[in-house]
Amino acid sequence: MGRLHLSYLDGRMYTCKYCYTHLALVDDIISKTFHCNNGKAYLFNKAVNVSLGEKAERMMTTGLHTVADLFCIACGSIVGWKYEVAPDRIQKYKEGKYILVMRKVVDFDRTNFGGGNESQAGASDADDAGY
Ligand SMILES: [Zn+2]
Repeated sequence: MGRLHLSYLDGRMYTCKYCYTHLALVDDIISKTFHCNNGKAYLFNKAVNVSLGEKAERMMTTGLHTVADLFCIACGSIVGWKYEVAPDRIQKYKEGKYILVMRKVVDFDRTNFGGGNESQAGASDADDAGY
């Protein structure tokens, strides 16, 4: 079995709030426990249709990380950030992974347009980004 590779045409995904460009699959969520000044943020294994901003060091709850802002390639709005370098071994799992800020994206379900409530369960880590 197993899911279809990059099945962005069906199933649940997150899209840009402004232009509905596909950004990430619900199946690729690693953690839902991140936060920023814009509210909830989820960590994803991969994201598509995004461009990266300048790398910058940013102090977060779990330490100093090197991150790059993520922009929607279609409309240019900022949708989250990518972790480039994590501060220590415990945080390494975030390197090369993508954060999408929930207020910037839409949880889009092609199979059920009613959507659904997300479980709040997840890992115990959390980052409070400075924006
Ligand atoms: Zn967009």
